[in-house]
Amino acid sequence: MALHETKDNRADDADTDVFASPLSGHILPKDRIPEEHSPSDVVYELIRNELLLDGNAAQNLATFCTTWSDDGVHRLMNVCLDKNMIDKDEYPQTAEIESRCVNILADLWNAPPGAAATGCSTTGSSEAAMLGGLALKWRWRTRRQAQGLPVDRPNLVCGPVQVCWEKFARYFDVELRQVPLEEGATGLLPHQIDAYVDENTIGVVAILGVTYTCDYEPVADIAAELDRIQTARGLDIPIHVDAASGGFVAPFLHPDVVWDFRLPRVASVNTSGHKYGLAPLGVGWIVWRTAELLPAELVFDVDYLGGDMPTFALNFSRPGGEVIAQYYLFLRLGRGGYRRVQQACADTARFLAEEIAAMGPFTLLYDGQGALPAVSYRLTDPQGAGFTLYDLSDRLRMRGWQVPSYPLPPAQDGTVIQRVLIRHGVTRDQIALLAEDLRRSVDHFKTAPPPPLAETPRSSFHH
Ligand SMILES: *Cc1c(COP(=O)(O)O)cnc(C)c1O
Repeated sequence: MALHETKDNRADDADTDVFASPLSGHILPKDRIPEEHSPSDVVYELIRNELLLDGNAAQNLATFCTTWSDDGVHRLMNVCLDKNMIDKDEYPQTAEIESRCVNILADLWNAPPGAAATGCSTTGSSEAAMLGGLALKWRWRTRRQAQGLPVDRPNLVCGPVQVCWEKFARYFDVELRQVPLEEGATGLLPHQIDAYVDENTIGVVAILGVTYTCDYEPVADIAAELDRIQTARGLDIPIHVDAASGGFVAPFLHPDVVWDFRLPRVASVNTSGHKYGLAPLGVGWIVWRTAELLPAELVFDVDYLGGDMPTFALNFSRPGGEVIAQYYLFLRLGRGGYRRVQQACADTARFLAEEIAAMGPFTLLYDGQGALPAVSYRLTDPQGAGFTLYDLSDRLRMRGWQVPSYPLPPAQDGTVIQRVLIRHGVTRDQIALLAEDLRRSVDHFKTAPPPPLAETPRSSFHH
């Protein structure tokens, strides 16, 4: 404050202090819009303060989603605040950038050269999965109807899928045939498929980066098994690859893993731009191998915004900024940049895997090599350890770490695992600190064992 300011001015200053303002002396309205307005900076500060009660995103090792963005992303998101993805006639350049991203992904996933890439952005992989599943259902139904066969009992075959596929099945009336995990397996295995597929199978979902274990399912072997089934039983069953995380990891870290459109049986692929695509929250992608694989009946032509635009989406209005940010990241990082970012994460995952393996009580389920930059593990001796992984999650939470524990499906089998995801912005030093806290927690339980508790899952499993 300037020295020559009057006492009155200082009083005014005190009046405008956020935490001395009338609003900050009250409990904020929670059920009803207040009658009168309040100063924006006061409201901003009070809400920002409340948000501090949320977990610290940088210590959230449960999520696959982007929690760090560079300044360019922040600035572009601001520029794009008013851009609506659906208004393709009003924001033609945003629409153009969306289709560039689709082309880039089709190329990244080795779509057949020459064919026009068909796909779109979505709110995330969940919406993309709905669109992919719907296309499978429509194609199956059209084929069955043409043969005069019943179309009332479609099913979808998959391993331990993310909840979006359970939603798809329930919302769109498809039987989900979830193949249980085999002992020691990290995902669907080809030899399990034969017993689950029949003439009503609309497709098989293969996951590149299983949510529970972070490993890739062997898409090429699954495709080969479906080839064999076609020869033996005459069933021609397409694959949709849920590459929510792996779609942005495998092309950079594991170019020799064949999982994408190099396999003729792969009809469509989804990914989350806001996971290892590094874009801010709110963008996913789906790409079909060729335009014919997306049934025309699913595409609506919208003309009342001016122009005549095809749209295939569950939402109508949707923000455009995430899509622009995705394009920015493609240009900003290039293939080399994506490779370096994902490699740094994989190296840190390997570091953590070694630390955890050396601690004693844990058995690694997935060591962070060959698939997603992540580590999953279980207690070697859950009965004799003297603590549960849920206890350990709680203990880590005291230091702010969010590390989920959850039952491996099928849940009734009783195996509980813990998972740490390494993503852009999670540093080696941070993970070394986490390892220290893990070690300290294990030591703590030796002298102060937690009270025994019911073996019911308490920690919520995120995604
Ligand atoms: C995260 C995830 C989803 C859901 O993706 P959102 O972008 O969060 O909607 C689907 N499948 C897999 C394998 C996932 O990891």
